[in-house]
Amino acid sequence: RGTSPVPPDVRPRLTVLSGPSGVGKSTVVAHMRKVHPEVWLSVSATTRKPRPGERNGIHYFFVDDEEFDKLIANGELLEWAEFAGNRYGTPRRAVLDRLESGEPVLLEIDLQGARLVRQSMPEAQLVFLAPPSWDELVRRLTGRGTESPDVIERRLTAAKTELAAEAEFDTTLVNTSVEDVARELLTLMLQASGLRGTDG
Ligand code: 5GP
Repeated sequence: RGTSPVPPDVRPRLTVLSGPSGVGKSTVVAHMRKVHPEVWLSVSATTRKPRPGERNGIHYFFVDDEEFDKLIANGELLEWAEFAGNRYGTPRRAVLDRLESGEPVLLEIDLQGARLVRQSMPEAQLVFLAPPSWDELVRRLTGRGTESPDVIERRLTAAKTELAAEAEFDTTLVNTSVEDVARELLTLMLQASGLRGTDG
């Protein structure tokens, strides 16, 4: 895993949403996309196979291992990490272009990625999405119905460690309601960018 540099003046506009797998990060992001299409979300590259309904270039750029190796070798990833047997990375150029245009940028990435962003850009805003309870997290991880028991087990193990990481983050949002979290997240993004929060 690794990172490549970002100019200091654009860093505050970068917000990272992270938290345990299954906590509902992608649901929050999907809601954000629907209600606030003007908010720019980074689309990650991944070696994971698409789930039903996932579209290339929308949810992820689905690539094979060889292509992912090339992205790393060419310095095209802002950060990348391995999670539950697959690799995930943030395309660098698209994020930088967007930040340089003056707009807030949202990354939805795993905890390792959030830590890498923290190291390379301390000014970035790190937001931890917490489950309402551990039981709720287990229910969500086992209830998705798209993963094998083996994968679920690995994700639960990762989630236990990930919950403890909350202390490293600037802000915690508890995922009791997708609508509320999306609204709070947008307010945080606008504030960090020096723009006004909305009621939105
Ligand atoms: P999933 O396979 O459920 O879509 O994602 C698994 C985990 O990978 C989630 O925690 C998600 O936030 C994270 N993830 C998605 N894209 C990236 C990325 O570009 N970088 C990193 N570090 N993690 C990512």
